[in-house]
Amino acid sequence: MPHDLRQVSLWWSELPADLTRPVGEPLPGDVTADIAIVGAGYTGLWTAYYLARRDPTLRIVLIEAQQAGYGASGRNGGWASALFPASLEALARRTSRDDAIRMKRTMIDSVDEIDRVARNEGWDIRWAKGGTVVAARTPLQWASAQEEVEHSHSWGFGPDDLCLLDRTEARERIGATDMLGATYTPHCAALDPARLVRQLARAVVRSGARLYEDTAAVSIEPGMVRTDRGVVRAEVVVRATEGYTRTLEGHRRTLAPVYSMMLATAPLPEDAWGEIGLGHRETFSDGRNLIIYGQRTADDRLAFGGRGAPYAFGSRISPEQDRNPAVHAALWEVLVDMFPVVHSSTVTHTWGGPLGVPRDWWASCGYDRSTGLAWSGGYVGDGVTTSNLGGRTLADLITGQGSDLETLPWVGHRSRPWEPEPLRWLGTNIGVRVMNVADASEARTGRRSLLAAAFARRLGH
Ligand SMILES: Cc1cc2nc3c(=O)[nH]c(=O)nc-3n(C[C@H](O)[C@H](O)[C@H](O)COP(=O)(O)OP(=O)(O)OC[C@H]3O[C@@H](n4cnc5c(N)ncnc54)[C@H](O)[C@@H]3O)c2cc1C
Repeated sequence: MPHDLRQVSLWWSELPADLTRPVGEPLPGDVTADIAIVGAGYTGLWTAYYLARRDPTLRIVLIEAQQAGYGASGRNGGWASALFPASLEALARRTSRDDAIRMKRTMIDSVDEIDRVARNEGWDIRWAKGGTVVAARTPLQWASAQEEVEHSHSWGFGPDDLCLLDRTEARERIGATDMLGATYTPHCAALDPARLVRQLARAVVRSGARLYEDTAAVSIEPGMVRTDRGVVRAEVVVRATEGYTRTLEGHRRTLAPVYSMMLATAPLPEDAWGEIGLGHRETFSDGRNLIIYGQRTADDRLAFGGRGAPYAFGSRISPEQDRNPAVHAALWEVLVDMFPVVHSSTVTHTWGGPLGVPRDWWASCGYDRSTGLAWSGGYVGDGVTTSNLGGRTLADLITGQGSDLETLPWVGHRSRPWEPEPLRWLGTNIGVRVMNVADASEARTGRRSLLAAAFARRLGH
């Protein structure tokens, strides 16, 4: 195995031994199947999981370069949220206002679908549906919070979907410094991402699918996947490679791998939690431009992450990029600034991993019946729940269920490719830099950065 998987993330390091054992084996040579899926993260595995339920006679093969859950699915912040990267306006422009609302409602239901499956299967995924609290810690963030809630209500979502908390109400949930108020949505759960992906992988193999690990796909084409160990022939081929998509021939510009970084503290004592709050394991963030996200883990750590790592020229991905001392140090500073009580605690784990970012920030899934090629991805930082929806939708499309999922506005959307280098490198890194500078300048001047707002609007986020 090329990587020490225990080093991949806090979550991998804490898996019980039975969940770290390889679930599959290397591809023994050329094989034939009905459906070949490249990538064994949530997307590939959920697709296989639901396909096997729709039609148990299907011969399903998964190809995984490392081990199931090696990618973002075993590393993320564990927010199973109803967030979708494209805005309601963008979704409505593609089809209709009603469809955009239906998409959001389906995302909300998909959070509970993960819980439903985990309960039915008897998986312990350390699930706590405490919602998300986003602290407003400057007057600008407070104004944005109010706008966001008004915007949500103008689309017909009620206070049960998103509401404003005043300072006192916010403090009951989260003890962040400088807080003026917060937004709160109940539609999010904290979970242990690696426990989810590893138990899902075992269930998929138990359902009869063949999982070939330590086998890298080189190219995907109609009817076949070429790998470094042989060829898989199949009528349907699913691409589920997200941040690693550039490893496939012809896909260097499909999704930009942008790294998100995380750290975890040692388990914190009860008196620290008295100050921090998060008594329902609410996931949390604040209203800054450059995204940060955190959760209280089931064993009482803070797991905290954010963007800000530079994009590497040529969409390079490497294990060395999983750790970035400057970004990890900056994250620690933000965390201590939010919760000074963690100052004396230790950081026990640092890690990171690539998100899959499409040029227009639109996640999409689809199936081209004429070529047999299917895909789901481009979730940016919102893939925990969206990948479940993607897997279910692909299973319906491939087996022709004619379900409501098949007509959601993200189905069949095609994002245009990223620019060739050096434009891709310049554009992506300027975006990260603008957000960083804007946060610093907004904190100093109290005025919104027009450039950051323009970027955020352009990205539909
Ligand atoms: C640090 C971090 C924090 C995040 N936090 C959150 C969060 O809190 N909430 C949220 O919703 N989302 C979050 N995300 C995003 C979320 O984790 C991903 O969107 C989601 O896991 C994507 O799942 P996937 O199966 O599509 O991709 P992955 O889990 O990345 O799986 C892709 C798999 O494909 C394999 N692969 C790639 N190329 C090949 C090839 N050529 N041949 C064979 N195999 C290949 C890889 O090895 C990998 O196992 C975060 C991501 C990161 C990195």
